[in-house]
Amino acid sequence: MKNLLDSSRCQYFLPSFDDKECDYYDPPETELMEDKPGECGFCKRPDSYRCIADVARIIPLSHSSIDTFLTCHYLYYLKKILGIEMRPQFFGPALKAGKLWDVVKQRHLGEKVSIKDTVEEYQIDEYTVAKVRALYHGYKELEIVVEDGYALQASVDMSYEIEVPAASLLPRILSDVIVDENNIWGIREDLKPFLSKTWTFPLSIAGFYDRKYQTYFAEDKLSSRPEFYLDPFFLQSQNSTYFMADPNLEYCIQEVVLFPQQKINKKKDESAEALGVRVFNDVISKPSKYFIGFDRKKRMYGKKFFRGEFDLQAAEERYKQVVLEVLSCRWTGNFYRNFKVCNNILPGIPCDMQKICRSGNMSENMFRIRSRK
Ligand code: SF4
Ligand code: SF4
Repeated sequence: MKNLLDSSRCQYFLPSFDDKECDYYDPPETELMEDKPGECGFCKRPDSYRCIADVARIIPLSHSSIDTFLTCHYLYYLKKILGIEMRPQFFGPALKAGKLWDVVKQRHLGEKVSIKDTVEEYQIDEYTVAKVRALYHGYKELEIVVEDGYALQASVDMSYEIEVPAASLLPRILSDVIVDENNIWGIREDLKPFLSKTWTFPLSIAGFYDRKYQTYFAEDKLSSRPEFYLDPFFLQSQNSTYFMADPNLEYCIQEVVLFPQQKINKKKDESAEALGVRVFNDVISKPSKYFIGFDRKKRMYGKKFFRGEFDLQAAEERYKQVVLEVLSCRWTGNFYRNFKVCNNILPGIPCDMQKICRSGNMSENMFRIRSRK
């Protein structure tokens, strides 16, 4: 392995005499313990995640990581390079409910996940648990089924090389080389040999399908705003990625469930059980309000979207551009902040990194460094 680290970026760099990059460097591996050449490595030091001196190799993208990057570059730096994540017990109620529904449904479909552990780890309050339980009891009472033959949590694992013409990088290069020219575009003829060169970057895209079949996939969502997950315009990033990863996929089904909106009756000091009964009765009497697209005959729900509704070409071009922009930030070290989204990272949801952003410190009670995968 060649030494590709820029040691000036890390005060803890510790050169080694074998063929490692740094004594703390941890090269990435696949699940089968094979090398992943070309991918940025990790750091073995405590409280570290990616090696910050490894700015030559790429970090794989996913639809959610590019959404994070495009929302706020600094947020991407905190989450994907420093590996900071909020401890699950501090998540907002909507995220906790979504996680619980996800685990309940995965468990129902055969995945070995623990509902009890999730409730404990995320410290989900009893009223949220009661609502999700009522939804699940409704799901079973209505005898809802899914088609057989699925793979749960099938992975998206795409990688290909992207070629970027040197002309894309022209203005910056020319402004250094030809400072006295009045019209830098007029001399492109002289530079043709240089412009015909291309730069090659490896691009790697990762992710998971909730449920994958031979010709389609199904995505589960629990939301207070289901319309967000039923508009192809807002699904372009995620669903285009999933279609790109497998040319056999013809359509997808968005299985969206409305998170029950019933409020606790504080005057009557309503218990979680009583709230659960109220929600269950409403689910049974109005199933299509909760299970969007519910079909009583088929005993299924969800909304179908076809491959042609997603602009895969645009999605691919977006990945190609964003991988360069991420590399550019890593080279310059300038992951600038986008203060406009701090209070509205998703509709009505503030950024969970505000405390770190304001103070420059990470509270270990509230945050932790994610584990390596
Ligand atoms: S981040 Fe870690 S692995 Fe990378 S140079 Fe610094 S100490 Fe070494
Ligand atoms: S608080 Fe604002 S600036 Fe800081 S990471 Fe979040 S979105 Fe970016």
